[in-house]
Amino acid sequence: MEESHQVIIIGGGLSGLATAHFLNKQRPGIDLVLLEGGSRPGGAVRSFSEEGFLAEWGPHGFLDNIDESRELLADTGLDREAQRAPLGKFLRYVCHRGRLVALPQGPQQLLTTPLLSPLGKLRLLGDLWIRPVTDEQSLGQWAAHRFGAEVLPLVDAAATGTFAGDYQRLSIDAVMPGVRKLEMEAGSLLRGLRNKKKAAGGKKPGQMPSMVSFPQGMERLIDTLAAGKPLRTGTKVQAVGREHGQWRVTTTAGAFTAPALVVALPVNAALPLLTPLSPPPVPEVPEAKIANLLLGFSDRVKIPYGFGYLAPERENRFAMGAMFSTHMFPGRAPAGKVLIEVLVGGRRHPERLQLSDEELLAKTLADLGELLPLSEPPCYSKVLRPAGGIPQMEVGSHRLLTDWRRQCEQTHPGLHLCGFGWDGIGINDMVKAAKRVAAGVAAGHAAPQGEAPVKPVYF
Ligand SMILES: Cc1cc2nc3c(=O)[nH]c(=O)nc-3n(C[C@H](O)[C@H](O)[C@H](O)COP(=O)(O)OP(=O)(O)OC[C@H]3O[C@@H](n4cnc5c(N)ncnc54)[C@H](O)[C@@H]3O)c2cc1C
Repeated sequence: MEESHQVIIIGGGLSGLATAHFLNKQRPGIDLVLLEGGSRPGGAVRSFSEEGFLAEWGPHGFLDNIDESRELLADTGLDREAQRAPLGKFLRYVCHRGRLVALPQGPQQLLTTPLLSPLGKLRLLGDLWIRPVTDEQSLGQWAAHRFGAEVLPLVDAAATGTFAGDYQRLSIDAVMPGVRKLEMEAGSLLRGLRNKKKAAGGKKPGQMPSMVSFPQGMERLIDTLAAGKPLRTGTKVQAVGREHGQWRVTTTAGAFTAPALVVALPVNAALPLLTPLSPPPVPEVPEAKIANLLLGFSDRVKIPYGFGYLAPERENRFAMGAMFSTHMFPGRAPAGKVLIEVLVGGRRHPERLQLSDEELLAKTLADLGELLPLSEPPCYSKVLRPAGGIPQMEVGSHRLLTDWRRQCEQTHPGLHLCGFGWDGIGINDMVKAAKRVAAGVAAGHAAPQGEAPVKPVYF
């Protein structure tokens, strides 16, 4: 049995579903099929609920500062359901010398924060005089060169909070291409930002964005996008190839052909399928796996008001950080209870994930107890161990892979690639890439990479 369609999309995660959404919007009635290997769509996006607590296996939310994601929410009506936690309203903390210190929310607080010494604050301005390095650098090398070594714990916290990654390995060009472009054009990031503001007519930057989720958790986004889509679950793709000018996809549930093929998979799932077409420069990329420990407490336990905290490596903590989930999104715990979600492991500590649930809980509680006023033991606990990790965009592999991808799309007509770890790792990155790929499929050629946005860093 062989089925023919106009478009095959491999992967029923957010990338595949969002590509299908934008494609349907641009070409109503287009005949597409979505092939998903698992028994449910959504991939990394999956909510968890038990005993009145609501948590996440994967993403906890996304910021509402990207046009494509706002469009997706508006198209689906989810903007009316969304729960929003405004960044400007909530404090975010960094572990600094064994205690939680609020991150500065604006320039004035930057002047008074204890996170940097007076000399460290002055050194930030060194960016105005320091020449850019053109070679590929790690996020850490780049930040130390431009702003001084004192900022490294903060850079570490940001890389931990987004990638569960190692700032000494992540590539600045890969994780902040927009920032890097400004720096190269203006010779300084601060000057580049000033020029950008001038070009925008001196407009003040808008309000800080909000973190978005839904009362049912992030899975609501998946359920909404998957509804009515021609999705085949339990259909794992085993091979892709070209035959008679068409793409032919072999799966555990038969073969499919189409002139256009979208591979909307995490980098490490895409590479083995694409190797027969063109051997990739690296066989795989490192992934950062984490465990998410859910801890429910009575609301007699007073958690500091805010989103949560992150712990730079030099603090030698057991947990990478924690989200104060019931502050961000009320309704995630039964009445009179609060929920904290603690992240353990990451790129630098995969060995911690070898511990049993009991050991993980004991070590996490001991760690947290030194930072938060945990006056009583948790009334609820659970360890979630997501199967997949976060692909790391590191020095030495990411640039090679994206060049290779461009070549693949150019040499193989009708082939389009997006997904976890190609153009970023966040939900906004996936939705942005999905819209670009959908435009390319509709136009009949690989869509060019858009302008890299200058993403503000939020912890
Ligand atoms: C623990 C964790 C926490 C995260 N937290 C955040 C966060 O707070 N905010 C944020 O913005 N982002 C976060 N992310 C990232 C976010 O989850 C991803 O950006 C997004 O889910 C990636 O979607 P995707 O469809 O590209 O990949 P995936 O979600 O991995 O989906 C890929 C799908 O393809 C299927 N598949 C794989 N191989 C095949 C095959 N051969 N044939 C058919 N199907 C196949 C898989 O079963 C899966 O369903 C987090 C990710 C993780 C893992």
